[in-house]
Amino acid sequence: MLTAEDLHFDRQHIWHPYTSMIDPLPCYPVISAQGSTLTLADGRTLTEGMSSWWAAIHGYNHPRLNRAMTEQISRMSHVMFGGITHPAAIELSRKLVRITPDGLDKVFLADSGSVAVEVAMKMAVQYYSGDRQPRKKFMTIRQGYHGDTFAAMSVCDPDNSMHALWKGYLPEHLFAPAPQSRFTGPWQSGDMHETQQLLEAHHASLAAVILEPIVQGAGGMRFYHPDYLRRLRELCDHYGVLLIADEIATGFGRTGRLFACEHAGISPDILCLGKGLTGGTMTLSAVLTREAIAEKISLSPAGCFMHGPTFMGNPLACAVACASIELLEEGHWPAQVAAIERQLCTELMPLKGHPQVADVRVLGAIGVVECHQPVKMADIQQFFVNEGVWIRPFGRLIYLMPPYIIQPQELAQLTGAIRKAIEKPELFGH
Ligand SMILES: *Cc1c(COP(=O)(O)O)cnc(C)c1O
Repeated sequence: MLTAEDLHFDRQHIWHPYTSMIDPLPCYPVISAQGSTLTLADGRTLTEGMSSWWAAIHGYNHPRLNRAMTEQISRMSHVMFGGITHPAAIELSRKLVRITPDGLDKVFLADSGSVAVEVAMKMAVQYYSGDRQPRKKFMTIRQGYHGDTFAAMSVCDPDNSMHALWKGYLPEHLFAPAPQSRFTGPWQSGDMHETQQLLEAHHASLAAVILEPIVQGAGGMRFYHPDYLRRLRELCDHYGVLLIADEIATGFGRTGRLFACEHAGISPDILCLGKGLTGGTMTLSAVLTREAIAEKISLSPAGCFMHGPTFMGNPLACAVACASIELLEEGHWPAQVAAIERQLCTELMPLKGHPQVADVRVLGAIGVVECHQPVKMADIQQFFVNEGVWIRPFGRLIYLMPPYIIQPQELAQLTGAIRKAIEKPELFGH
């Protein structure tokens, strides 16, 4: 099905994420996927620890998701959204308004997570565009990740996303320190000092604060204290600055709540969703905001919100997103995520104190083993594949975010492979 020549063509011609074209890391050919299992071209199977980057929350090849797509294909895969609407977009938007935090009732459907962040930031700038003093700056916290397009990159951690490389091209925004109070630890009020000072000094030019609620994902897999989010909400209200919650990774149950904002009992002014939105089947994102914000944008000089991608509201993606949310609404996910959390704690926490391990943390269906040294990517990847698992670490972080339907023995295989890896010094170092 796949020849050596095919793989050679891949190496010669196809870019993979963050990969050199001169000396690319090896790629493993996957030909099918089912439940929590990926099947390689040579017949080997791998237990999935990544949910394809947070997305495949219900596992692969799910009959209900497949059926939703097949039925939609037989009617229409796509139709433009300008001047046209369709049942799948209406149904999805109705569901999103219903399940998201209070007051978010205007829905913008976009193509991917990064585009959702672009749309959210554009909404915030347009919201203030008719004011005597328009606002174009954003504030965020360090260690964040919001995507790879330019506006999104401008609010990613400046070191992780190499802002120096883009100097002069990237807009420069404000960075508060990442909160140090851990999700499970005591609240340290000092976490708020610099955030408050920055807001006090700059609020008149700030359109919004943007951050990932509770879990900072690709910027460091950090879990911070809900009080930070609660107090940030109060400060944003006090200073009249919008709050954008990027729940692209955390949304749809991953942290143990349907949305991570619920840990703090807050509602943002603008919410970004993506990744798990379609159960990992299609690219789609959504941005939700409040009625008052949508109204003010519509009264701004442009007279409307200035965005409208070609594949906006793609019916196929909307139909499968509806089916994914229906699966969540059947109510099995809280027990599944809680069981994963318990097992991750039992099987990973004992690694704390191991000479290779700097920290272990678990929240919902996310488990993180932070090492002292960076992994040797090609070596550890091959090690994991030989162990029959798909785990893709980055830097000093080995982490799991499996599909919610993973079985205990499959999850044990993933944690077992991590335990074995940290016993192998040759898999670490520069
Ligand atoms: C993945 C991610 C994005 C970007 O989404 P893409 O679909 O990759 O463009 C933005 N924000 C967060 C928090 C993410 O995890």
